[in-house]
Amino acid sequence: MLLQLGQGWKAGINWTMEYNIDTKGKGLFLFLSTITLIMMMAVTTLLWWFVSPRLHEISEILANLSLTFLRIFYFVLILGTILVYLTCFLEKNFLVAKFAVHAFIKILFPVTLYFGRLIGLSKDRIRESFVFLNNSFIKALRRKFRSSDILLLLPHCLQDTRCGLRITVNIFNCQECKKCDIARLISLAKKHGISIAIATGGTLARKIIVENKPKLIIAVACERDLVEGLREVFPIPVYGILNERPEGPCINTRVATDKIELVLNSLLE
Ligand code: SF4
Repeated sequence: MLLQLGQGWKAGINWTMEYNIDTKGKGLFLFLSTITLIMMMAVTTLLWWFVSPRLHEISEILANLSLTFLRIFYFVLILGTILVYLTCFLEKNFLVAKFAVHAFIKILFPVTLYFGRLIGLSKDRIRESFVFLNNSFIKALRRKFRSSDILLLLPHCLQDTRCGLRITVNIFNCQECKKCDIARLISLAKKHGISIAIATGGTLARKIIVENKPKLIIAVACERDLVEGLREVFPIPVYGILNERPEGPCINTRVATDKIELVLNSLLE
């Protein structure tokens, strides 16, 4: 895919919105959350079935009202699910992208994660799929951002462990020796005029976000940190890019800078 995109650039083709960076693989989370929704519908139906005789005894109007409410609730849920599928597979804004992100982040993620664990899926696999789904929603919104409104937020584990420079305080302390990806990421940020920072944890990330007030964050991290981060900073949209861990977690991690550049080219005004 990246090769094709690279060839496209060489050929002078405009790739605006024609990128698929970390958006594939969202089907797993979508499937799990749909099953979760069906189970929630089954539970509410069962509950209604148990209480409806009692409701009829109390008042016919109350029983009919509760049944109508349940039908409307199911209709909205089914329609919403269809629109969510259309939104994230066609990556077009069906006016539910914003609402869907909200619902997925706040309500469905924890329930779906729990359900996924019950059927034996690893947390990271579910989180990864959730990140891809989130990225699809951001694409579907088709919003463009000014470079000054974008923050590239990086994890500390990208820095080469042999490097003694304190880049967490100021990333521009990096001498750009190119032993790790930090140098290339700084060049990328300078080229596009976006903010760039390193966060060693949630507290520092929050501080950086408060100081920079970004309208879009492009975050590089592992599955767990990305999901925690994008749920925490909501409603600020976060485009998640998973890091690579050739030496295991949290040490000398890598990231494909060309992926980030493709995302930037697509989301910049
Ligand atoms: S690129 Fe920067 S951060 Fe990475 S090892 Fe070199 S000086 Fe250190």
